[in-house]
This record gives sequence, C-alpha cells and structure tokens, in this order.
Amino acid sequence: MASDFNDEESVTEDYNDFDVIIIGAGLAGLTCAYNILKRSAGLEVLIIEANKEVGGRILKDYSDTFHVNSLQKHVTDLIKAFHIKIERGRNIDGKKTILYTKYGPLQNLPRYNGAEVYNFLQTMEENALDPKFSNYTSHEKATQLAETSVEQLLRRIIYLPYSRTLCRAFICSTCAMRNLNDVSALWMLVMLNGASGILNRLKITIGDSNRYFVQGGMTKIVQELFKNILKQDGKVKFVERVNEIKFNDDRAYVRTEKSYLKCEFVVVAVPPPMQDRIVIKSSSQESLYPQGLYAAGENVFFKLTYKRPPWINDFAENIVTPWDTSANLNISYDATHGNTGIFVLAGFLGEPNATQTHNKGLFDILNECFGTTDALKYVKYKEWNTVTSNLQTISSPMSVMKPTTIFNHSNYIDDLNGRILFASSEYAVNWPGTIDGAIEAGEATAYSILLRIRPQALTFHEISTLTFET
Ligand SMILES: Cc1cc2nc3c(=O)[nH]c(=O)nc-3n(C[C@H](O)[C@H](O)[C@H](O)COP(=O)(O)OP(=O)(O)OC[C@H]3O[C@@H](n4cnc5c(N)ncnc54)[C@H](O)[C@@H]3O)c2cc1C
Repeated sequence: MASDFNDEESVTEDYNDFDVIIIGAGLAGLTCAYNILKRSAGLEVLIIEANKEVGGRILKDYSDTFHVNSLQKHVTDLIKAFHIKIERGRNIDGKKTILYTKYGPLQNLPRYNGAEVYNFLQTMEENALDPKFSNYTSHEKATQLAETSVEQLLRRIIYLPYSRTLCRAFICSTCAMRNLNDVSALWMLVMLNGASGILNRLKITIGDSNRYFVQGGMTKIVQELFKNILKQDGKVKFVERVNEIKFNDDRAYVRTEKSYLKCEFVVVAVPPPMQDRIVIKSSSQESLYPQGLYAAGENVFFKLTYKRPPWINDFAENIVTPWDTSANLNISYDATHGNTGIFVLAGFLGEPNATQTHNKGLFDILNECFGTTDALKYVKYKEWNTVTSNLQTISSPMSVMKPTTIFNHSNYIDDLNGRILFASSEYAVNWPGTIDGAIEAGEATAYSILLRIRPQALTFHEISTLTFET
C-alpha cells in the first residue's frame, strides 16, 4: 500500500526509531515495557509520559491505602516475583459492612426489600457468569443491553424504590461511578464476567478478609517496575504529551509537543477518556477508532488518619452509601495495616468535602455510623486534588463505557490490528479498572507484541495463555 507519510519518514533520524513506543507510564505501560525488556530480546523500547513521574493513577500520597485481593492473580504474582512484602488489614471477621441510607445506617432491612435486593444480586450474578458475556460479541441480548443503561436495567428488574436505592449502592461501588445512566448494561455484565461475578467484584471493592495492602504502599510496585526497565536499558521521556499517532504498512509515527518519533508498534497505555485527545490516523483512513465512548468518574479520594480511632470494636470496615441519599460519601474503608499505631480510613466522596454546603457532612455520617462523636478528632485529613496537569479529571479509579451500539462495544486489547495496541486497566479481561487489570493489560500487550516480532522469546505457556486470553 502506498504510504502517505513517506516525506516525514525520510527526514526522521535513526535515533528516533524504536521497536516499541509506549504512551503512558502508569502501571499498564510500565508492565508492558517490563515484560518486553526482561526477555533481553534486543528490542528498543521508549516510554513517553505526560507527567514528570511514573505511576499514573497510583497516587504517591495515598498508595498505602490502595488494596488488592488474593483473588487478583496478576498483581499477586508480580508482588511475589518482586519479593514485595504485603500486609493484611485489621481482622474484619464477623463484622458487617454498614449501608448508610437516607434514614441513617441501615440496621434491619424489611423482608420485602431484602428479597428484592437478593433477587437482583442473584440475577446479576447469573447473567454475569453466563459465558455469553465473556466478551462483547454480538447476540440478540447483547445488542439490546449495549444500548441500555444500568439505571434502565435496574428499573426494569426492581420494583420498590428503596430496594433500587440499595442496589444502586452495590452497583456504583463496583464500577465507581455516580451516574448509572452513563453506564452501559452490556459493559457492566462483561466487566463483571471478567471479575468472576458481581459477588466477587463486591469482595474486592467492599472488602473481605483476603484484602491486603503492600508494605510501603503500591508505589513500591511502580518503583520496582521502573528500576527494572532502566536496568534493561528502556528509555523514558517525561513531561511530553503525545498528540498524534499516524501509521502505515511500514511504521508508526508518534508526535509529541517536542518530538517526532517512529517505531514498529505503539502501545496506548492511557485510560480511555484521555485517549480521545490523541488523534490516531492510518494512511488509508482518516481516523481509526471510535473514541469518546467512555465516561470518567468524578470521585474525590480522601484519607483520614487517626491516633485513636473513633470506631468501636464491632465497627464494620466499610461504609457504603447510595448516591441518592443526601450524603456525599460514596464509600469508605478501613485502610489500617502494619504496626504504625495509626488508624486510617480512606474512600471516595461525590464532591470535595470542603465545598460541601448543603449536604450532610462526611463527619456527621461517620459519627452516626460509628455511634460516637469522635470522628472529627482526626490527625490528618487529605483529599486528592483531582485536576491533572492537563486539566483533565482522572480521579475515578476506573472509566466506564457509556450506552452505545454493539459496534462500539469492542475491547481494544483483543483487537490485534496492525501497529497500535491499547493497554490500560479498563481493557483488561479480568478485574478491569483495578491494579490487577492494569498489570494484566500490560502483560497481554507485551506478549502480543513479542508473539509477532520475537516469538522465540516467549515460553510455550505464555503463548498458550495469550492465545487463550485474547
Ligand atoms: C484514588 C484511586 C484509588 C484507587 N484504589 C485502588 C485500589 O485500592 N485497588 C485497585 O486495585 N485499584 C485502585 N485504583 C485503580 C488503579 O489505580 C488503576 O486502575 C490503575 O493504576 C490504572 O493504571 P493504568 O496504567 O491503566 O492507567 P494510569 O495509571 O491512568 O496511567 C496512564 C498514564 O498515561 C499518561 N498519559 C495520559 N495521556 C497521555 C498522553 N497523551 N501522552 C503521554 N502520557 C499520557 C498519564 O499521565 C498516566 O501516567 C484506584 C485509583 C484511584 C484513582
């Protein structure tokens, strides 16, 4: 095929030519680079990162509150491989999650509501585990669900408004979004399928005794990956934003504000809502990918540190509130671990507490849930500043797909088209939107590149895993 970019190609210097360029130094981008470079297969890898440091959504000041679960295999294996120490949270056996409603903490759910909530969770579980929803393949049911929002689905299945409110709380906590009108029902089921059902996904977000933390925080994983990448001669450019990718049969061309580079493969390890800022063009088509179909959440992350915790012994470690209460607290969890003598509560707010004027305050809710008046006696209270250097909000742990046609419900990680590969946590098959998903996406992308240009560097097991997962 004739190239439209031959002129540009001829003026590019060789030192700007790489085998792989990875856009984004979050966990997915770093894992991808690490998995390519550790094979010493003679491939030149460059990472381009818009920020001045690696890590992306692993927030430095809060990473000790990030948790994973031993059900999440990719992150658990990586932590073992790097000999990173883990810490269990406080023992929560026998304690219950508090569901905070309009009327205060929920003590006893009326039977008819209980039955409806149970029925809803069962229905979601059965559907999510249906092999039909292991991907976005078109079938009659999927086609309808693709255009349906989770809110519409919820209204169809649940009759009583109060039961709906409670179910919304569970669903919102699994996808970390406030507005379920913005979430595609098909996306939800496929996402839950990857997470082995809604009940397992709830275990991860709301917590169970398999939850663990990383000693020193999740930045440990990021630092280890980065150290290994540099050791293997990987290159990194910081404070450079990629604006455009062009590609033809021969090569791909990556343009930032400062550089013009070329390579054989480009990995876009950038969350979907940020991707639509990157123009992707092939020599034969104007713009390749349907973009802008993802919605980013607007949650604010908070961390509360206590010397003496306000919660009492039988306090459950999580508080979940449905969005339609007057509260702005979405979810909070006990992030206490280690022997530091400090007690930490972390979680998400629907808006910064500081600007909250009319809502019931975070601390009022905590006081009500703990049954004390001590919640205000914290040592430190910190909210994450949600605005990034490019004035884009990426405060949500995950981005969700909006209701749209089945055609647009594709998973780019499976879409092994030519030179551009997509790898961010949201595209993972299992546990999308989490740390585990980011690592899975990075690994799978590295394998698919190696399979194409250095298959001899992969083990038989890796090749079969790749064939199985994608
Ligand atoms: C507050 C918070 C708490 C969380 N808690 C947990 C938790 O407890 N457990 C869990 O499993 N998960 C948690 N998550 C989710 C988890 O952190 C993310 O899923 C994961 O880190 C995403 O990694 P990523 O590499 O896919 O994306 P990112 O980390 O978003 O990385 C993308 C990178 O691309 C860069 N970039 C973007 N555009 C460009 C461009 N045009 N050019 C160059 N670079 C660009 C960005 O600067 C960024 O560094 C949390 C997330 C948040 C925000």
